Amino acid sequence: MDYRITGITSIGLVFVAIGIAMYQLFSISFLFGAVYTVCVPLVFLNVIYIYCRRCTHSLDGSCRHVLFGLIVGRLFKPTSPKPYTLNEILIALLPLVILIALPLYWLWQIPVLFFSFLTLLAVAGAIVVKGVCPGCKNSSCAMCPATCRRL
Ligand code: SF4
Ligand code: SF4
Repeated sequence: MDYRITGITSIGLVFVAIGIAMYQLFSISFLFGAVYTVCVPLVFLNVIYIYCRRCTHSLDGSCRHVLFGLIVGRLFKPTSPKPYTLNEILIALLPLVILIALPLYWLWQIPVLFFSFLTLLAVAGAIVVKGVCPGCKNSSCAMCPATCRRL
């Protein structure tokens, strides 16, 4: 399948999951929901700045997730690919992990939301691994399959 379809679908599922978390947090408290909503774009921009800006796909307009490559082109100056340091990986991914983990406690209060949230993320992850990463040329990415390093 065309990587653009799987790339966009996976991102779409992640944003639907985040939308569910926003809904639940707003129902608990307007302040919680508002803070979470402000953090979402900041967390993704942080990943894009650290990770995507140095990805070979953002240089040639062939981002596997389409959207992130477009954002790099609009907001940042793509730079030459080089391996990510451990600090860069932590700074890029830790806020993302917190963004996913933080709403779990409140989502658990409505199990259907909790399981929908996790299922959407799991399906998105499976789509990325099976339908986006194969063929990706970002050999510095930890998710890059063995074939990626030979491209
Ligand atoms: S392929 Fe992955 S790392 Fe590269 S620009 Fe797209 S989303 Fe970012
Ligand atoms: S290997 Fe997968 S997760 Fe990593 S940049 Fe490529 S498509 Fe994205």
